Amino acid sequence: MSAEHVDTVVIGAGVVGLAVARALALAGREVMVLEALEAFGTQTSARNSEVIHAGIYYPQDSLKARLCVRGRQMLYDYCAERGVPHRRCGKLIVATSESQIDELRAIRQRAAANGVGDLPWLTRAQAQALEPALQCHAALLSPSTGIVDSHGLMLSLLGDLENAGGLLALQSPVESMAVVAHAPATIEIVMGGGAAGTKLAARWVVNAAGLQAPALAARTNGLDARHVPRAWFAKGNYFTLSGRAPFGRLIYPVPEPGGLGVHLTLDLGGQAKFGPDVQWVDASEDLQVDPARGDAFYAEVRRYWPGLPDDALQPGYAGIRPKISGPGEAAADFLIQGPRDHGVGGLVNLFGIESPGLTSCLALAEQVVALVGRP
Ligand SMILES: Cc1cc2nc3c(=O)[nH]c(=O)nc-3n(C[C@H](O)[C@H](O)[C@H](O)COP(=O)(O)OP(=O)(O)OC[C@H]3O[C@@H](n4cnc5c(N)ncnc54)[C@H](O)[C@@H]3O)c2cc1C
Repeated sequence: MSAEHVDTVVIGAGVVGLAVARALALAGREVMVLEALEAFGTQTSARNSEVIHAGIYYPQDSLKARLCVRGRQMLYDYCAERGVPHRRCGKLIVATSESQIDELRAIRQRAAANGVGDLPWLTRAQAQALEPALQCHAALLSPSTGIVDSHGLMLSLLGDLENAGGLLALQSPVESMAVVAHAPATIEIVMGGGAAGTKLAARWVVNAAGLQAPALAARTNGLDARHVPRAWFAKGNYFTLSGRAPFGRLIYPVPEPGGLGVHLTLDLGGQAKFGPDVQWVDASEDLQVDPARGDAFYAEVRRYWPGLPDDALQPGYAGIRPKISGPGEAAADFLIQGPRDHGVGGLVNLFGIESPGLTSCLALAEQVVALVGRP
């Protein structure tokens, strides 16, 4: 069967795939997005904290640091221009014991190295003047942290993509890929699901399959296995608060290994949720929240909010971090692999796009356009 030709295929319609596809279409490329499921943005992009991160925690000069700081500004501008619901509500990072004060200082230094200089130090009294229900020894105020409606954002990105002539194909799982020509490169894409066996041939393919990106790369004939990182799954569970939270800002403890600690985030309606914790799991489909994990949440949250009433937390939802480093290892950076990295013309793989991937989506897209280029 001969394959239909498309200039550029983006695999995965999460926030990153959609941002990448939009940017490539605006750069003049013919773009088709292939999404395995029946709707866009139902995976990790719908199962996160929806926080616009300032760029505080990441190692200096890492992609996470650079793309978060740039992406945050791009995202605020984009949301303002397109009317995507968002709010620059600010957040407090709190030391809940004297022994965490040094960690708070280290966070402030790292943030400054990343170009995030707007982190005023608050004493206990200053923090409590802002948030009277808060218990802490000291805090950092991050005024450039905010929240965004991630579905509204994806809807807007999709609208831009379609206005620029791009196309989203749902229920279109990619089964495998193969490099079938070099100079110019051609990658053959074999479809699964209802279109099993159908083939597409693309000049460029961007693998933005999130949790499945390493598995899909492993099914790419012509890509050396040493360029495919091992996928690790770190589930983050959330519990929602019944009743209104007495906070106007997001509240974060100092980070824990593998995540940012059980923090309080607000949605745009003012409803509060707590999470995510870190639970290493074997399967990317393991999305149930075990109510028994709630006990640990009460203890964690009461360190900064002693007034949390008994029985106020309900199991909420869970998301899985698409990690490429395992338990006990240093957190890996975003991995954007282009032809120069793996030697396969026309292929870009996006691996390990965990937090702050939502914040960074527009900056990640800029990086991919720089690799792919204009037609
Ligand atoms: C618990 C948690 C909290 C987070 N909090 C934040 C936060 O507050 N702020 C922030 O900036 N970031 C946050 N993140 C990170 C952010 O959610 C992700 O970086 C982002 O959503 C990743 O988007 P994506 O498009 O790469 O992946 P996804 O949203 O997972 O999209 C990938 C898509 O690819 C599709 N797909 C997979 N395989 C195939 C295939 N073979 N063929 C076709 N389609 C395929 C999937 O169906 C899916 O729709 C958080 C993440 C987690 C897990």
